[in-house]
Amino acid sequence: YTAKADRTGVAAYSVHRDQNSADRLSLLAELRKALNTDELELYYQPKLATRDGSTLGVEALLRWQHPQRGKVPPDLFIPLAERSGIMPLLTERVIGLALAQMAAWRDAGMYVPIAVNVSPSDLIGDRLTDVIIAGLDSYSLPAAMLQLEITERMATQQIEAANNTLHRLRALGVTISLDDFGTGYSSLLRLHMLPVDEIKIDRVFVAAMSEDTESIGIVRALVDLAHARGLPAIAEGVETQDEWQVLYSLGCDGVQGWHVAMPMPHAQATAWVKARTALSPLAPRAHPTLDRGVTSHEKAI
Ligand code: C2E
Ligand code: MG
Ligand code: MG
Ligand code: MG
Repeated sequence: YTAKADRTGVAAYSVHRDQNSADRLSLLAELRKALNTDELELYYQPKLATRDGSTLGVEALLRWQHPQRGKVPPDLFIPLAERSGIMPLLTERVIGLALAQMAAWRDAGMYVPIAVNVSPSDLIGDRLTDVIIAGLDSYSLPAAMLQLEITERMATQQIEAANNTLHRLRALGVTISLDDFGTGYSSLLRLHMLPVDEIKIDRVFVAAMSEDTESIGIVRALVDLAHARGLPAIAEGVETQDEWQVLYSLGCDGVQGWHVAMPMPHAQATAWVKARTALSPLAPRAHPTLDRGVTSHEKAI
C-alpha cells in the first residue's frame, strides 16, 4: 500500500501476511468480535456533480482498525466476511452506522444522501429490505436519501435474487448504483434489464485515460451507454484535474476520487460538507473551467 492509499484510511496490514488459513481463521474470529465495536468505522467520500462541483452525496466506506494488526483493508476482510457467511451482520452494522450519521446530519440541517456498498449474499432473501425499512423508520429518514451500490458482477451472478430485492428496495424509494461498471462482463441485454438508477464507471478506465486516447473513447462509450438508458454516469478514482476536465468534456455527470475528496472520518466529512455548502457549489476550488472549449485531450483524438 502506498502513502496515498494510507491517507484514505486503508493501509498497513499486508495481504501477504494473510496467506495461510490459520491466520484467516483468526482474522475471521476477530472480525466477528469487532462487529459491534468501534473498531469498525465508516469513512465518507463525496460524489460531486462534474459540472459545478456541487455535492451529490457521499459513499460510506468501511474501515477496520484492528487493535494489534492496525488498519485491515476492506479488500481483505470484505471477501472473508462474504465467504464465511457473516456478511449480512456486517451489512446490518454498516447500514445502522450510515443511517445514524444521516440522521445526525439531518438534525444539524444537512441533507446528505449516503451510498452504502452491499455484497451478493445481502441480496438473497428479505433481510436487507427489512433492516433498511426498520432503520429508516426508527430515524424517520426518507428512503430516497439512501443509495445502495451493487457491483455489476454481483448483479449478474445472483440475477433472480438481486432483481427481487432491488425491485422491492426501489419501490420504497431507495436508489441503486451499479458499481465498478465495465468490469463485470455482463451482457448488454442483462444490463438493460437491471433495475438501477446510476452507473459508476470503474476507476481502471479513468486511470487509463491519461495513458492513451483510445481509453478516452472507451470512457465516452460507457458514459453514452449510461445515457442511452437514461441514467447518470459517475466516474470513480478521479485523481487529477485533467481527468476531471476530460470527464466533463465527455458529458460524465459525476466525479469521485482523491482529487475531488478523500474518504474521510465522520468529523472531517461533516466539516467538508459544511464548508462546501457555505462556499456555494460554484466555489472555484478544484473544479474545471465551465468553458466547453476543446481540451488538449480532445485535440489529441
Ligand atoms: P468500491 O465500492 O468500488 O470503492 C471505491 C474504492 O476506491 C475505495 O476503496 C476507495 O477508498 C478507493 N478510492 C477512492 N478514490 C480513489 C482514487 O482517486 N484513486 C484510487 N486508486 N482509489 C480510490 P476501499 O475503501 O479500500 O474499498 C474497497 C472496496 O471494498 C470497495 O470498492 C467496496 O467494494 C468494498 N467495501 C468498502 N466498504 C464496504 C462496505 O461497507 N460493505 C461492502 N459490502 N463492501 C465494502
Ligand atoms: Mg462503491
Ligand atoms: Mg467502485
Ligand atoms: Mg470496487
